[in-house]
Amino acid sequence: MADEHRELLLSHIRDIPDWPEPGIVFKDITPLLRHPAAFSTAVDLLAGSERGQVDVVVGIEARGFILGAPVAHQLGAGFVPVRKEGKLPASTSSTSYQLEYGAATIEVHQDAFEPGDRVLVVDDVLATGGTAHATVELVRAAGAEVVGVSVLMELTFLNGRDKLPGVPLAALLSF
Ligand code: AMP
Repeated sequence: MADEHRELLLSHIRDIPDWPEPGIVFKDITPLLRHPAAFSTAVDLLAGSERGQVDVVVGIEARGFILGAPVAHQLGAGFVPVRKEGKLPASTSSTSYQLEYGAATIEVHQDAFEPGDRVLVVDDVLATGGTAHATVELVRAAGAEVVGVSVLMELTFLNGRDKLPGVPLAALLSF
């Protein structure tokens, strides 16, 4: 990534100490979303050169929706939301996992994928990797293929990457 792009992204992400709990440093992307050039640069870089290679972008609730939907549009792909428990209206598949702060269950609509769909998973932060891993499992269980996971930020000290063996992982920024 060009230095100017890295600087643009970095300067629009702020650290919120002790949120949502003591000891967590929350990476807040709302300044980036508010800034047109930073937002479009993030979307361009997350989409990468995947045009024509992806059928579906999966966005993980909630910030993965904000980033994933424009990535899908840019790639000419469809968009599928992976949501927290109890939010999706039709029949769902679900899986539970541990995350950096607490435990969670995520769900996807059972008819969200066609067998063989090429899927790119998008989120803002890869922390422990539990959310991304659970999402990959949901996609694969539906018979679709995960071609990559793209995140804005990777918190390398949490080793989330280790939970995604064999999955191409692209992180725009590493901390
Ligand atoms: P994990 O499952 O631990 O990789 O956590 C990833 C999910 O939690 C992502 O959807 C992130 O949006 C969120 N998350 C975890 N840690 C942070 C953090 N330090 N700052 C912002 N979001 C985070």
